[in-house]
Amino acid sequence: MEIIKNVKGTHDIYGEETNSYEMVESLMKSIAELYAYNGVRPPVLEYNSVFVRGVGESSDIVRKEMYTFPDKGDRLLTLRPEFTAGIMRLVVQNKLYATNELPLKLYYVGPVFRYERPQLGRYRQFNQFGVESIGNNSPMNDTEVIVLAYTILCSLGLEGVTIKINTLGDEDSRNNYRKALKEYFKDHIENMCEDCKSRYELNPLRILDCKVPEDRPIIEGAPKIGDYLSEASKARFEQIQDALSVLQIPYEIDESLVRGLDYYSETVFEFHYKSKAGLDYGAVGAGGHYGKLMEELGGPELPGVGFSFGIERIVSVLKDDGLLNDTKSTLDVYVMPLGDESVLVAEEIAVLLRNSGGYRVDMCFDKTKLGNMFKRATNKNAKYALIIGEEEIKNDSVIIKNLTTQEQMNIKVDELIDKFDELFSKEETQE
Ligand code: ATP
Ligand code: MG
Repeated sequence: MEIIKNVKGTHDIYGEETNSYEMVESLMKSIAELYAYNGVRPPVLEYNSVFVRGVGESSDIVRKEMYTFPDKGDRLLTLRPEFTAGIMRLVVQNKLYATNELPLKLYYVGPVFRYERPQLGRYRQFNQFGVESIGNNSPMNDTEVIVLAYTILCSLGLEGVTIKINTLGDEDSRNNYRKALKEYFKDHIENMCEDCKSRYELNPLRILDCKVPEDRPIIEGAPKIGDYLSEASKARFEQIQDALSVLQIPYEIDESLVRGLDYYSETVFEFHYKSKAGLDYGAVGAGGHYGKLMEELGGPELPGVGFSFGIERIVSVLKDDGLLNDTKSTLDVYVMPLGDESVLVAEEIAVLLRNSGGYRVDMCFDKTKLGNMFKRATNKNAKYALIIGEEEIKNDSVIIKNLTTQEQMNIKVDELIDKFDELFSKEETQE
């Protein structure tokens, strides 16, 4: 029969790669925990309106990238294309903002879905890790979110990450700027891509985000947001830059950075990293400050700031640069029963070592030669082999063999955990 393949734009994660994803995600979580964030898990499925209202009708995501369908009860549902809008829905619905100190600091990790053209660094189902810090308007809150993202990327071993920052200003600044852009693009729009034509009508700011090479020279000549900022927005942006400098976080100002989601205001930023092989996977992460998102979803007027990393892109650059060396699976002990009578005793010992000893243990279930079992132990990167035959059963003992030094010893079963504890703590001090 013909085999069934995975859906276009999705990818299977297995083997060593699974360990890479786990390693990357757990490091991200542990650093977010240091910054006092707590985990949150919104559902993958939301009502379509969460994203239409949250992400915004002029965004590429809502215009063409969402997996939206009616369910059997005729509810219009969407597979989340990003987390922020769903998290805001969760915060509003459960009134998580009703606490005596804001910001509310949340992190998330999981799959998101976007109907895009699959290519290098671009999938239709991919994984994001990110944070939201909600309900505090201090520029220091924006700064800290950038510091956290940068710290995570550095801790993963990425050196020379570029942080691009820009400000979109407050509502007044953006309204004035939009007018100026409309005026400027009026004479050019006929010659620009179809997407830009609809962006011109919906939100001319989006045009700055266009990636069509022919459109870029026209876009380069457009007015700059810096000339339309209110005094307050200018001051806020300067405070953030000063704070980043004091904290020794390198950044570049990129006036063409507008980000593709409608909810952003004031500070926006992106994280870029070029792997040594020079492959361009696109931004590894991005984020910004948002003003009206909570209100759009029926909540109080509270601002927020967050970022989101593309885990696939991060795993790819780490792999390219050889920064994922230690992700091989290993075993503490591989248990080898010799003969039918040993199998049940061996299983008992394996369970004991796992449940009481906390060791990672596998066991050979096949009747095969001892030499074969040693080969399997080596393939599984086991540190110790545990051999149990008729003789050992009689004596309530086992043979353990250090597979690195080939040292071998006979140990009583009731002394086994103490022995391994001794051997493993010795190993740790040697490392
Ligand atoms: P891009 O400009 O590359 O399309 P974006 O602005 O749409 O990115 P965000 O919505 O900010 O991206 O998502 C945060 C991060 O998720 C991105 O910086 C990127 O690392 C990752 N990402 C976005 N789209 C994809 C995709 N289709 N496949 C894999 N990763 C993605
Ligand atoms: Mg995109």
